Amino acid sequence: MEERHLKISIAHLYPKLLNLYGDIGNIITLKKRCEWRGIEVEFEEINIGDSIKEHDIYFIGGGQDKQQEEVAGELYKQKSFLTDERDKNAVFLGICGGYQLFGHYYQPHNKEKLNGISLMDSYTVAGDKRFIGNVTANIDFLTPNTLVGFENHSGLTYLQGETKPLAHIVVGNGNNGKDKTEGARYKNVFGTYLHGSFLPKNPHFADYMIELALEKRYGEKIPLAQLDDTIELSTHNSLVGKSY
Ligand code: GLN
Repeated sequence: MEERHLKISIAHLYPKLLNLYGDIGNIITLKKRCEWRGIEVEFEEINIGDSIKEHDIYFIGGGQDKQQEEVAGELYKQKSFLTDERDKNAVFLGICGGYQLFGHYYQPHNKEKLNGISLMDSYTVAGDKRFIGNVTANIDFLTPNTLVGFENHSGLTYLQGETKPLAHIVVGNGNNGKDKTEGARYKNVFGTYLHGSFLPKNPHFADYMIELALEKRYGEKIPLAQLDDTIELSTHNSLVGKSY
């Protein structure tokens, strides 16, 4: 049977400003895990002043409050387009500062509140201490049922309505250090505090995103060819439960 030609398009939003602690590794992982399967990747970097066009996956990394300020204004201008994309089941992944801007607002210390784009029913307020360290969290819809990564944020994120936690904390602080939740999901919009970067050490989540993106583009579930994840999963497993 002739091999089917598959393609997905990926947008990296504001990498020159929001790309803290190697968040670019998430883009590299998505690209490589597609290419290793013969899935063509169309890639676009979106910078300040660019208009965001239609893609299957939108990725945004983390950053300090100052960089978030610059990006928040740009994202807000394109809020209705991005909301339409969400409702067409496009896949979004926001890491930390990018995740915070997916909600209604981010209130930094002693500064103007930053408008988020409300892709999720959540909000973030700066706390009085930084959460820094390794994180392990349980995710109930993937195998392995763990996510690992590194957090470094003072923002405390609270989820409301239909926006549900992505995972539940085993080690670390996650969304706010109180309710034991980590990250969030609404439709195909995902946010997490896990830097490190996130996807190289959580290949099962990367594949889940690729499957969702293919389903959005082709209107059907398309199973992915298995990859040899020996190295990725041994790295993942070596971090499960580690707090140092
Ligand atoms: N500036 C935000 C905070 O401190 C996000 C930081 C980040 O992206 N690592 O919570």
